[in-house]
Amino acid sequence: MLECRELTVAYGQHRALDGVSLGIAPGEIVVILGANGAGKSTLLRAIAGLVPPAAASGIAIGGRPVAGLPPHEIVEAGLALVPEGRQLFGDLSVEENLLLGAYARRARAAERENLERVLALFPKLAERRAQVARTMSGGEQQMVAIGRALMSAPSVLMLDEPSLGLSPKLCTALFRTLAEVRRTGVGILLVEQNARQGLAIADRGYLLENGRIVGEGPAAALAQDPAVQKAYLGGAAATATGPEHAVERPSAQAAAPAVSAPPAAMPRFVPTPRADTLIPQSIDELARRAGEIQTEHVRAARGARATAAPIGAAHGIGTDTLSEALARIEAAAARARIREPEPKPRPASERGGASDADKGE
Ligand code: ATP
Repeated sequence: MLECRELTVAYGQHRALDGVSLGIAPGEIVVILGANGAGKSTLLRAIAGLVPPAAASGIAIGGRPVAGLPPHEIVEAGLALVPEGRQLFGDLSVEENLLLGAYARRARAAERENLERVLALFPKLAERRAQVARTMSGGEQQMVAIGRALMSAPSVLMLDEPSLGLSPKLCTALFRTLAEVRRTGVGILLVEQNARQGLAIADRGYLLENGRIVGEGPAAALAQDPAVQKAYLGGAAATATGPEHAVERPSAQAAAPAVSAPPAAMPRFVPTPRADTLIPQSIDELARRAGEIQTEHVRAARGARATAAPIGAAHGIGTDTLSEALARIEAAAARARIREPEPKPRPASERGGASDADKGE
């Protein structure tokens, strides 16, 4: 249904996705787990055509290659995205928001039927179809966003952090709804920081780290994996005597329905050194290390300024501006450490002009 092969995306010199391969079958929920900055949103945006993938990347929906097509063509191929933050039209009613989701050619003819289907799926929206969207609760707005995506009659629905900002009760309702959507045969690709609930409803999961898939498996196996528990579920650390890892290569998944072409073999999951080394440490220790790193950056910036191209030149920031900013930050930090008060502004008479306060601003 949806298949990505060697999907790579770069923002300038930074590779946000590096050869990602994955597949989703009809009626399957697949969750992507990863730390902040791992590339989860980039993955969804690249599939949706919102950021261009590298030339060798392959994306297919229902067997149709879509990599590099504009977003509206990808919607026509059967993909819908519920973006992070919902992005509703706040001043429009629930019904108007839903109907805007049916602009795709594939959905126009069946607009009314789709509307009735969506309202049947979300009875609360049926009760509130005339209500202005921005006056609804966070959970209700998330329902509108999902309903609007379903109005294009997609075969694949992608959701970016749908539970963000929702109470535990609303999260549970949301995940229950996704299970309902799955029953209609739609494949769901879910990016979720609520790893516990994400894994609870998913059939399979992928672990994304620094733009690469570092593990995958049936959701139940991932949830039991000590390294996954430690990194994503806040669970106990893996013990030396415990099972090595429950996560296997894709060929070992019995639970996953067959996709048109199985994803390329994935590397075996290896726990991340970063998660392993940082998570057990205290906040004080993390803050101390962050301070050290920052100091190293400042030193490196000074060294580089003396020997190489000016730092910040790529962003149009002059060397003087940057060094003045660094000096101000250092001075402020030093004052904060010894609790020295801010230097008092000089009186207007000394500066030869009226101060803002003098002007009453
Ligand atoms: P989060 O959970 O914090 O939303 P994420 O896993 O969704 O993170 P992305 O937003 O995909 O991560 O970002 C992946 C990397 O690409 C990050 O290092 C980010 O800084 C970088 N990045 C994302 N968007 C851009 C952009 N438009 N320009 C430059 N770099 C970007």
